[in-house]
Amino acid sequence: PFRALQNHMASECAFCKIVQGELPAHKVFEDAQTLAFLDLNPITPGHVLVIPKEHHEWLLDLPIQIQGPLLETVQRVARAILKATNAQGFNVGMNNGRVAGQIVFHAHFHIIPRYAGDRLTHWPGHSGDERSLKDLCEKIAAAMEKR
Ligand code: 5GP
Ligand code: ZN
Repeated sequence: PFRALQNHMASECAFCKIVQGELPAHKVFEDAQTLAFLDLNPITPGHVLVIPKEHHEWLLDLPIQIQGPLLETVQRVARAILKATNAQGFNVGMNNGRVAGQIVFHAHFHIIPRYAGDRLTHWPGHSGDERSLKDLCEKIAAAMEKR
């Protein structure tokens, strides 16, 4: 049946459907602007996704007024995960863009609880040479947009 879409929703977005209650999810927290639910394919037990209820594709589209509430929910849920599990720390991650592994184009933070001996490995780093560090620093600093 036809239903007018409000511009803060996307018709084929799985996370908008979870917000609307059209898809089930294991919701752990919800407030006016944000929602947190278990990831269907947890990297570690207790892996939670935190999303804005409004549909925005990625970090660069998130209005400033949503950013604070979103990070507050990340913090509150992370605290709850530490209490509810024997995790000793957590990673917060966000995939932005297909090349970065983003699959669902409704902005979301991953909270990935970390357990002693969970065997997840760190991203590899490569020691940077001073010239390219300096070069990139200048380029990025020059590309910063005014507020
Ligand atoms: P990303 O876009 O950050 O790469 O990953 C999307 C994440 O959402 C994946 O970890 C995937 O397991 C999770 N995911 C995708 N669709 C659903 C869904 O319908 N429900 C839930 N709970 N998680 C989902
Ligand atoms: Zn959406």
